[in-house]
Amino acid sequence: MPLDFLKRRGNENDDAAPVAPPATASSVMPEEIVAQEYQLKLYFAGKSSEGVRMKAGPNAMNELPSMLAGLAKSEIEVVEPLPIEFSEATPTIVRPSEAMQWLNAHHALSPITRHALVVLESIDAVDLAFDTFVCAMLDGETDTSGYPEYNAIVGGVASHWDEATGDMVCRAVVGWGGRGVRGDTDRLGAKLLAGMLTNVLASQYALGITSIERPVPAAGRGGLVCAHCGFASAHERAFYCPKCGMRLLRG
Ligand SMILES: [Zn+2]
Repeated sequence: MPLDFLKRRGNENDDAAPVAPPATASSVMPEEIVAQEYQLKLYFAGKSSEGVRMKAGPNAMNELPSMLAGLAKSEIEVVEPLPIEFSEATPTIVRPSEAMQWLNAHHALSPITRHALVVLESIDAVDLAFDTFVCAMLDGETDTSGYPEYNAIVGGVASHWDEATGDMVCRAVVGWGGRGVRGDTDRLGAKLLAGMLTNVLASQYALGITSIERPVPAAGRGGLVCAHCGFASAHERAFYCPKCGMRLLRG
């Protein structure tokens, strides 16, 4: 319709712009169509170390932030496992219900920790259904809003309770990413991962390297409420409270 407005009416105005090409030209399908291309490549990557079995107990839990000593380049934040009302939380904006849960769970965290969770949850390197995650900026810069640049490395120590023994198992986790990738980030990430694993192993509660078996949801069981701390787990899990590590009683 807007084109009609531009059409000349007879010769009533000789100063007007030249006549537009005949309308018939646009109605014929060309042999090759011309497409305008659009693209955004997001690149997220990360690393997770082997697990270190720890003597269980609240003291070991309280010591988690100190495992980032000498490596953290920002304030260290502790992200606790998510309770049942956030069991669908996912950092995926096109799924509004999951995204709202995620924002409600994490909006109070620092930009650095929120960025870290987006990266590490997207690549499945941490799972807050059972992980406690102690997080900081480890390398690189933030933008003017305080969010890490794509080549900044974020991460920390994640811990969960081993389903077989109830021991606390800690692992170092790093991640980075966004609109781009830089060649030396992977090597730097590996170095930081090793540094944190060294700190974990140096803890007075460390018992040694162990294989990591992630808690798997038990079929047909609802989330249990912990009789010790009252935490209602988001994970339909087996035996141990993600928050306090005490054995869950079957209801
Ligand atoms: Zn508990």
